[in-house]
Amino acid sequence: MTNPTLLILAGDGIGPEVMAEVKKIIGWYGDRRGVTFDVSEDLVGGCAYDVHGVPLADATMAKAQEVDAVLLGAVGGPKYDVLDFSVKPERGLLRLRKEMDLFANLRPAQCFDALADFSSLKREIVAGLDIMIVRELTSGVYFGEPRGIFVEGNERVGINTQRYTESEIARVARSAFELARKRGNRVCSMEKANVMESGVLWREVVTKVHAEEYPDVALSHMYADNGAMQLVRNPKQFDVIVTDNLFGDVLSDAAAMLTGSLGMLPSASLGLPMANGRPKALYEPVHGSAPDIAGQGKANPIACILSFAMALRYSFDMGAEADRVEAAVAKVLADGLRTADLMGAEGGTPIGTTQMGDAIIAALDASLV
Ligand code: NAD
Repeated sequence: MTNPTLLILAGDGIGPEVMAEVKKIIGWYGDRRGVTFDVSEDLVGGCAYDVHGVPLADATMAKAQEVDAVLLGAVGGPKYDVLDFSVKPERGLLRLRKEMDLFANLRPAQCFDALADFSSLKREIVAGLDIMIVRELTSGVYFGEPRGIFVEGNERVGINTQRYTESEIARVARSAFELARKRGNRVCSMEKANVMESGVLWREVVTKVHAEEYPDVALSHMYADNGAMQLVRNPKQFDVIVTDNLFGDVLSDAAAMLTGSLGMLPSASLGLPMANGRPKALYEPVHGSAPDIAGQGKANPIACILSFAMALRYSFDMGAEADRVEAAVAKVLADGLRTADLMGAEGGTPIGTTQMGDAIIAALDASLV
């Protein structure tokens, strides 16, 4: 059997710092679990612009298409703010998402018990929370035509168009049902079928895919505005939520903040299955390159480490190992270890990026005895 392949694009700012801790965990899997990943590394974002004059070289793009999964750190920084829009660091990330056709964006909202007091909601509402929002990423109102600002009579009108084909809805619905089978086996689909035709079609297609292909998964439907209320009122009622690009943008940010710091939030973007059955996949922390703390060894590596755990679960079918990594993170947090972004009112001394990575490795070691 061939080794699973990974392309690491650490990027800019704190990207390489947090990715260094992920590399230790990848190494740990080779040493301690006999799972060797074939890892290649390349440039994305500002560092790629510095070398190639573009934020993602064609050769890097080609590698990303070939590997089982791409792990990305973060891109951007003040040095690149003056660049033309076409070569800004973020364009490298957008090119990856577009050319790999990553239509399903997975944003988990998971609350580690030790951080429950960090949430803006009460501990009992968020402690133990573990939900997954699947946002359609490549269509909908952010892409639909016509779009623009036009003149009508003596005033201007701004137009964007919500547009979804049946196949676009069906494929993201399938992603959500597949995920649910690896989790709590429940999907809640959110739209506004009461006021939008695209919502009516969305509900019909999700219902059909469910009946024909995933009758074992429990499916419910909810209007997205009610969904926003329910996420804040009682988020633990959900397992997997599937929704369109616009509603998903808003709902996933709201859900993420239920759980506290930006330094804790992983994400995955998945496309269609490749010849080996694995989906095209890009895993990355939600946070950016954090120029304000870059180079200081302060960044929290957990979002990037949890993104790797998502790769174990969703690209490599190693759900038990993903659980192991998440349990190791929970253990170090329960032991009171905190990077600076996780320091609460109780005070204490924060640890650095490397120490946090080392503590997670120690917890992984402890999980084997
Ligand atoms: P940011 O996420 O980089 O930082 C926001 C705040 O959160 C900062 O105070 C930062 O120090 C803190 N923070 C973020 N990640 C952290 C971590 N792991 N540990 C501790 N603290 C952390 O967002 P920003 O400041 O708006 O953007 C900075 C740069 O990153 C910009 O160039 C922006 O375009 C880019 N960006 C990139 C991505 C990406 O690569 N996916 C996402 C967002 C922003």
